[in-house]
Amino acid sequence: MSEIALVLAGHGSHISPQTAGIVWRYVDRLRSWSVADEITACFWKEPPSFRHIFDTLLARRVVVVPVFTARGYFTKEVIPNEMGLNGAVTVKGEKSIFLTRGIGEHSKIESIVQAFVRDTLSAYNLAAEHTAVAIIGHGTRRNPESRYTARHQASRLRELDLVSEVVDVYLDDDPDIPSLYRNTSAPNVIALPYFVAPGSHVSLDVPNALGISDADTPQRANGRIVYYGDPVGVDDGICQVILALARETGLPFAENRAASPWSGFPKAGRETLLRALNSDDTLRFGQVTVSSERVWHKAEYQPTRAFESPAQLRSYLRDDPFRPLPTSTDLPAGWRVALENPEQAHAVLETVYPGLIADWSAARAGDFLTENLRDVSGRQRGMFRDIHRLDERAIERTIEQVCGKCVRQPTWRDNNRPGALPCRAACNLWLSTAVKQAEADL
Ligand code: SF4
Repeated sequence: MSEIALVLAGHGSHISPQTAGIVWRYVDRLRSWSVADEITACFWKEPPSFRHIFDTLLARRVVVVPVFTARGYFTKEVIPNEMGLNGAVTVKGEKSIFLTRGIGEHSKIESIVQAFVRDTLSAYNLAAEHTAVAIIGHGTRRNPESRYTARHQASRLRELDLVSEVVDVYLDDDPDIPSLYRNTSAPNVIALPYFVAPGSHVSLDVPNALGISDADTPQRANGRIVYYGDPVGVDDGICQVILALARETGLPFAENRAASPWSGFPKAGRETLLRALNSDDTLRFGQVTVSSERVWHKAEYQPTRAFESPAQLRSYLRDDPFRPLPTSTDLPAGWRVALENPEQAHAVLETVYPGLIADWSAARAGDFLTENLRDVSGRQRGMFRDIHRLDERAIERTIEQVCGKCVRQPTWRDNNRPGALPCRAACNLWLSTAVKQAEADL
């Protein structure tokens, strides 16, 4: 039985592979350090979902670290609500779930921000008295507390007196990003996106609001020279921040030990898979074929690309073109992974279809639970709150459009397809598509 699991809870995206991609990179690194028995990620916009991640884990002690720079809407509302948590420690069945602060609240982030400012001053030989810094947060008008962490970083920079002016501005709150040109006067502006990932906000929305054409730096805008930085999440020190937060729970996370990149995966369903592989030469999961020696795309037995790590495989399968739904039926072909041991088959499948084996195993055991649309809708606070009011025609149309291109079957709607790969609840892509269609129908 596993002892401790570490779960990184991130935002994910339907349009940018980077948003969840950077969180998976943290997972890969933490697995290679072997700091916990099971290490995984879950997302708001992509599978595996916040709601069902615990079903993939055997560990009885689970630490959830929100990979968000802002404190507020996601760390205080969405994650606890979706995961069914009621405080720092929640007992759910046999599991104790520990929820930490978000990464943006840890003091180690301060040194990342301050190092970026110092490095930029030094790299471009900028005079402190002629330089302003703008800490750019996401913010949301749904929760004013979301400004807290970016504001805190700005105030720490002011205390250090590294530059002449420091402001905090927000993509989706006040003060907005263009206000930095009104509220500072220094000819140089160091603009630091206080975001996790180099996704569409960092590559498009923030540069647009800054008045720069793209993310190249430096550039002239509004009579200033703008030095635009990478988001704080790309810093190599983030995994140490995650570990520091996990260790604040008092649980004994291991010290950094070198391990195979295929170790540290969530383990629910693994034994069932190994037993099935013992009795059958090959198994088929969606568009993937598995034997005890290799895993490959079902279309070719001798594909040309051989992958040796989860990072390589994941990048090939999801990044270009971006596939926000890992189980969508457009899985790229032409790849294989040779297995060093049968256990690795589970890690490969978990990389291709995160969370699927746990569900498949539960369905085989007869204890697979689904969540209907009304229950999903009932716990929403945002745009999906009224999703259950969709009429039957709209629901069926969305199922045809979204689930029709997925190797899972919408078991949450129709439980009469024995042997199909199951699905516990409408995924975020399904919900988003349904809402967009309902708006278009109005
Ligand atoms: S079956 Fe439908 S709801 Fe479930 S993951 Fe696939 S697309 Fe989403």
